[in-house]
Amino acid sequence: MIYDMHVHSTASDGILSPQEIIAKAIDMGLAGIALTDHDTVDGIATAVSFLKKQSVEFTFIPGVELNTEVDNKEVHILGYFIDITQQEILQKMAEIRQQRKVRADKIVCKLKNLGLKITMDEVNKSAGGDLLGRPHIAQALVHNGEASSVEEVFEKYIAKGRPAYVPRYKFTPLEAIAMVKNAGGIAILAHPGLIRDDRIVENIVEMGVEGLEVNYPEHSMEEKQKYLEIVRKNQLLMTGGSDFHGYGSTGGRSLLGSAGVNEYEIKKIFDYLEERNNKKNK
Ligand code: AMP
Ligand code: ZN
Ligand code: FE
Ligand code: FE
Repeated sequence: MIYDMHVHSTASDGILSPQEIIAKAIDMGLAGIALTDHDTVDGIATAVSFLKKQSVEFTFIPGVELNTEVDNKEVHILGYFIDITQQEILQKMAEIRQQRKVRADKIVCKLKNLGLKITMDEVNKSAGGDLLGRPHIAQALVHNGEASSVEEVFEKYIAKGRPAYVPRYKFTPLEAIAMVKNAGGIAILAHPGLIRDDRIVENIVEMGVEGLEVNYPEHSMEEKQKYLEIVRKNQLLMTGGSDFHGYGSTGGRSLLGSAGVNEYEIKKIFDYLEERNNKKNK
């Protein structure tokens, strides 16, 4: 029984809609998924109401992924079970999405100066919703024939260090952890292995993150062991997920269900949440 706890939908920069993801996960025999779109919880209500209409046992976990930065390194914080009506976190995510629009505008401007044909209309069209990410810009260029793949656009133009790269405003990990916790959620450090600096991982643990995403497609066996040790030593939760974005969206991106947690681990997460909520209500 696999629960894939890291999945992106069209609400952010994934290729499949929340409904398509759930239908596919059920079809594949997964036990559950967490929807963890970047900076938005827009896909969650749709996912929940779609799942209600299915007559199968399937676990859906609401989540979000917040990209933060520390020492010039990307640190992604996953927030599970947040209250999706809490104004503070909704407002902060809305700010981030606004900043993303400003940044997308700047990237498009740079691309035009480099001689590429692209408009914000095309980018908005490939985004569908109000979250604009670099993948949408890349998709627009593939769609209008200016490039042959998303990967190519990143490598030539919009990856960090390339000529049309524009950084965007990011929270600090501490801010993101606080946002998640204040909204009643569980804060987890996503793919610690991608940070490639375990001192930062230790720092994030000290900041009060409640678990590590131990199981991740790009983690080696050694890395999984190492992060599991940190989890045990600090009595944290372990999570796992594929970071699925849909086929062909980002080159060799992982498949749905290619990483996750089992029933035993998911139960620990639910028990932890229940215990914490009981404490709060006392
Ligand atoms: P953004 O949040 O707009 O900065 O875009 C980050 C997203 O772009 C990540 O979540 C990935 O999905 C995607 N991405 C980052 N680097 C690459 C790359 N080299 N090739 C393809 N997709 C990438
Ligand atoms: Zn993404
Ligand atoms: Fe991430
Ligand atoms: Fe992700």
